[in-house]
Amino acid sequence: MKLGRVASPDGVAFVAVEGAPGEETAREIAEHPFGEPTFTGRSWKLADTRILAPILATKIIAIGKNYAAHAAEMGGEAPADPVIFMKPNTSIVGPGAPIVRPPSSERVDYEGELAVVIGRPCKDVPAAKAADVILGYTVANDVTARDQQKYDGQWTRGKGYDTFCPLGPWIVTDLDAADIAVRTELDGEVKQSSRTSLMLHSVGEIIEWVSRVMTLLPGDVILTGTPEGVGPMVAGQTVSVTVDGIGTLANPVIDK
Ligand code: MG
Repeated sequence: MKLGRVASPDGVAFVAVEGAPGEETAREIAEHPFGEPTFTGRSWKLADTRILAPILATKIIAIGKNYAAHAAEMGGEAPADPVIFMKPNTSIVGPGAPIVRPPSSERVDYEGELAVVIGRPCKDVPAAKAADVILGYTVANDVTARDQQKYDGQWTRGKGYDTFCPLGPWIVTDLDAADIAVRTELDGEVKQSSRTSLMLHSVGEIIEWVSRVMTLLPGDVILTGTPEGVGPMVAGQTVSVTVDGIGTLANPVIDK
């Protein structure tokens, strides 16, 4: 199932997206998309709605250096254990919304990533049971003020600006994410091209590691790390991240 959130002619709603590309229907879900969703009976043509970020996360956890080739381009070894950091939920924007470069940064980078959306409250989840707590997968761009990330020595400021976490377009619930392509294009030029099978820590291992620290809640989002090829974006460009089996997340870049 493809779960999304749209601004419909009747208001904002969680929806299930169905039908062939170009002719999709958005069926309104009652209340929330967790568990077995129930439907209100209302639906709209997807083309008559505006697609929003598919979830407003309680928290966003992200993994650093989870691809060896990216760790190398950042000038370091890949760490033995997952490195986790957090982005504020206020950094989330949906497909098509602008990424706003703050005037205080001289280098704002894209980082295309597979994102995991948690489906139920959980703690201390063994990797082998991780599938039980996953609602589905979406596409993320872990936008980073690279100069501030390096200057500060920790990442909250550089990763935390409003608009620095584009998410979407959908949450796909029935996806085998073990070996799928992740690709980032800047104005149509391929900048990152890798596969999730090259992640150093699998989705299950990440959930085990993170949930040993903190309780995960329905709607929490985990960004699984970016592959090699990160680089800067400037105003006027459009960045798009595609994860096979999910879709493409495209956002224009503007200066504040
Ligand atoms: Mg990242």
